[in-house]
Amino acid sequence: MNIRDKILVVEDEKSISGFIRTVLAGAGYDVISAHNAAEAFLMISSHCPDLVLLDLGLPDLDGTAVIEAVRQWTQLPIIVVSARSFEKDKIDALDLGADDYITKPFSAPELLARVRVAIRHTRLSGMMTSSGKFISGDLTVDYDKHMVTVKGENCHLTQNEFKIVSLLSRCAGKVLTYDFIMKELWGPQSRGTNQILRVNMANIRRKIEHNPAEPKYIFTEVGVGYRMIEPDA
Ligand code: CA
Repeated sequence: MNIRDKILVVEDEKSISGFIRTVLAGAGYDVISAHNAAEAFLMISSHCPDLVLLDLGLPDLDGTAVIEAVRQWTQLPIIVVSARSFEKDKIDALDLGADDYITKPFSAPELLARVRVAIRHTRLSGMMTSSGKFISGDLTVDYDKHMVTVKGENCHLTQNEFKIVSLLSRCAGKVLTYDFIMKELWGPQSRGTNQILRVNMANIRRKIEHNPAEPKYIFTEVGVGYRMIEPDA
């Protein structure tokens, strides 16, 4: 029998906490819960959960401060659960080390998909190499040949365009912020303007998407960054 993944739900609103716990338990996860930041710290150190779902608006401490503190000593995946629609909070949370975010209200399938992706990424991150391929539908990213194809046809991406697609596909399913992508590709001094990234993305979409206005492979998270579709199972 498989060992069940244990998820800590940190949420002070009883109805939301109850909904999340029901969904996760129904999907076969072990679920434990905390209702404030102090309880969350205790549960994380004593129960070693496989993932934390973290509400940003906690009664005793801001959720972003929890992320900052937890990241001092563990890389366990954290998904921020937020009622706030302000993009700044999501970006802060991601830049402080959260793995993903989900905005209330959300559906059960949406929640389970995010949880699966976050847990899988932690498992894979130790063994990711530069070899192999990413395949989703008609799209293939060949890391060895440095080539992207659609229906077997070479898309003729430039060096920079390939690096962007390569980075997004390695983190497929996760949102990457503009700043993160800029820093990964152009170095730490590249903060400030995302113009170069937007221009590159427009060209990438023209080359890989059937209809660039309705992308199937790389999605825009408005004001935050980009998210690539998950690979075929
Ligand atoms: Ca709350």
